[in-house]
Amino acid sequence: SVKHPVGDQLPRYVRVNTLKTTVEDVVDYLKRDGFSYLGKASRLEDLSLKDRYFLSDLHLPELLVFSPKTDFHDHFLYKAGHIVLQDKASCLPAHLLSPPPGSHIIDACAAPGNKTSQLAAIMKNKGRLFAFDLDGKRLATMSTLLLRAGVTCQQLANQDFLKVDPDNPQYKDVEYILLDPSCSGSGMVCLQDNTSADQEKEQARLASLASFQLRCLNHALRFPSLKRLVYSTCSIHKQENEEVVAACLQQNPGFRLVPLLAEWPERGLEPLPQCLRASTAKTLTHGFFVALLEKHSEPGNTKQ
Ligand code: SAM
Repeated sequence: SVKHPVGDQLPRYVRVNTLKTTVEDVVDYLKRDGFSYLGKASRLEDLSLKDRYFLSDLHLPELLVFSPKTDFHDHFLYKAGHIVLQDKASCLPAHLLSPPPGSHIIDACAAPGNKTSQLAAIMKNKGRLFAFDLDGKRLATMSTLLLRAGVTCQQLANQDFLKVDPDNPQYKDVEYILLDPSCSGSGMVCLQDNTSADQEKEQARLASLASFQLRCLNHALRFPSLKRLVYSTCSIHKQENEEVVAACLQQNPGFRLVPLLAEWPERGLEPLPQCLRASTAKTLTHGFFVALLEKHSEPGNTKQ
C-alpha cells in the first residue's frame, strides 16, 4: 500500500489564541526561545520543516507551523492559553463559519472545545456562544480549556443537541451553527491501523453514525434565524461526509452549499466539489471534511 506521512511525521500546528495575545508577540517570544522564524509559507511543500524552524501557515493567518516532533505541552505559551495545539484541518470549520463579533452561535457537539475557543476568538468574546455536549466528562475538560483560553461568551450545557428546542426564545437570534458530530475518526492517522476489522460490523457502525449525523444536521437547520452552518468530521468516509450533506440538501431545499477556499488543494468528492477535504497526502494534516451550508436569501426559495 502507498505510504503517506503518518501521525508523528505530520507538521505540528499551533493556533495563536487572539483572545490573549497576537501572532507577532508569539513569534517574538518563540524567537527568543530558540526557534527560527522563516516568515509566511508560500507553498504546501514549505510546511515540511526540520528542527526548530517555524513558519506562518499559507491558508490560516493565526496558525504557526513547526517540525513534526515539536512538543509544546510543557511550554509556557500553551499553559498560559496563548497557543492552542490544534491540527490545521480542524481549524477550518470555525475559520470558514467566521461569525462576526456580537453574533449568537451554537456549537452543537462542542467538547473538548478547541473549535469553541476558536469561535470565541473570532467573535472577540462578543455575542453568545451556546455549546452543547452529551458527555459530562468531556464537558468538564472543556470548561478548563475555555478558562485557560480566556473565553467568556460561552454558555455550556450537558445536553443532547437533538433534544434542544429550536423554537426556544433563547435561540431566536442564532444565525450560525457549527456542527462537528461524533464520527468514525477514520481521518485521525493514529487510528488508521484497524484495516483488519470486521467489514460487516464496520459498515453497520458507519451506517449508524451517518444516520446520527444526518439527524443532527436536519435538526440544526430548524433553528429559525439560521443563516450559515458548517458541518465537519474527522472521517474520510464518503458515507459520513458527502452522502450526509447530499441527503440533507435534498431534504432541505431552502439551503445550498457555499463554495469554499478556491486555493485549498483538496475538494469534496463528486458531486460536492464545493466542500473541502483534507488528508496527510494532499494537505499535510489529518483526514477531515468540511461543508458550509447557507440559507437561500431570495424570497420564494425558502419553502421547506
Ligand atoms: N468540536 C469538538 C472540538 O473541536 O473540540 C469535537 C467534537 S467531537 C468530534 C464530537 C462530540 O459530540 C463528542 O464530544 C460527543 O460527546 C458529542 N456528542 C455525541 N452525541 C451528541 C449529542 N446527541 N448531542 C450533543 N453532543 C453529542
